[in-house]
Amino acid sequence: MREIKEVYPLIQEGIKKIVITMHQKPDPDAMGSALGLKLFLAGFGHELTVVSPTNWPAFLNWMPGAEAVIDYEANPFPAIKAVEEAEMIFCLDFNTLSRTKNLAPHLEKSTAIKVLIDHHQQPQSESFQFGVSDTGKSSTAEMVYDFIKQSDYPERISIEAAECLYAGVMSDTGSFRFESTTADVHRMIAHLKDIGLEHFRIHEYIYDNYLENRLRFIGHVLSNRMEIYYEYNTALIGISKKDLLRFHIKTGDTEGLVNFPLSIQGIKLAALVIDRDEERKWSFRSKGQFNTNEFARKYFNGGGHFNASGGRSDESLDDTIDRFKAVLKEVEDQLK
Ligand code: 5GP
Ligand code: MN
Repeated sequence: MREIKEVYPLIQEGIKKIVITMHQKPDPDAMGSALGLKLFLAGFGHELTVVSPTNWPAFLNWMPGAEAVIDYEANPFPAIKAVEEAEMIFCLDFNTLSRTKNLAPHLEKSTAIKVLIDHHQQPQSESFQFGVSDTGKSSTAEMVYDFIKQSDYPERISIEAAECLYAGVMSDTGSFRFESTTADVHRMIAHLKDIGLEHFRIHEYIYDNYLENRLRFIGHVLSNRMEIYYEYNTALIGISKKDLLRFHIKTGDTEGLVNFPLSIQGIKLAALVIDRDEERKWSFRSKGQFNTNEFARKYFNGGGHFNASGGRSDESLDDTIDRFKAVLKEVEDQLK
């Protein structure tokens, strides 16, 4: 993978067909990075299409440009056409093509120049011709900001792009709380404020935009579905299809749920598993020295960051939960 700075001449010479894509079920960082980058690249006159592998939470629909994003699962043909015709494909907030689910074979087949901008661990660098992979960065949105700032056009950050990028950094840093919130992050936000960002609106768009059912669901889950294993400093939440149906849960409604148990004194690992249609989807969060990336990779076909990762399983909900409990014994020393 060659350095990201070698991409500047490619975007400055001639108009290109460019696709920007991100991981399945995009979160604020994935969607915010993609739409922020799109606004910057639009300044060069390129033909730009943002393709999401799947649908996304409704609380991202306020983002400028969200209405034009193609959902590959809902509209495969225009998404495939855009990928097939693309001369460049920017891959944001994921580092292995498998994170784009059923879009992955189309990306693999494409002969476009692939550019990676991402902050997860263990990148599949051979899949990308150019790029930057930096686990020290708070978010992909911060990296897109750096990409713009280090270009010959650092002043080309519109207020719309600032809103998208702010959402990504805010979300991936737990509202500027996690260790990844560096002085550079605060300098970036100060700059976005200087150009007119009204940050409080973004918090409202993302965190104050749920329906009543989601809060009732959280109450139910915390009362009835959370188990605490104090001997392992671990909390587990398992959610069945029945729970999802009963509370009319949609994409995005379970966002943030895995963080709740970490507020319990002494809890070092929080795990959430949801019985989705085609798979059991795991989320892992930790505090301190428990490496969720390694854990998710080793036991649950996943990966991510040191303190926040995800994974998946083809087993039934009960079986994958039983396996989780068995695996806790194996990692007991790391949880003490
Ligand atoms: P979440 O629990 O919010 O879905 O994901 C937490 C972090 O782990 C995110 O940065 C996400 O990109 C990553 N992640 C989630 N699921 C998977 C997975 O199945 N494989 C890999 N490699 N990373 C994942
Ligand atoms: Mn991210």
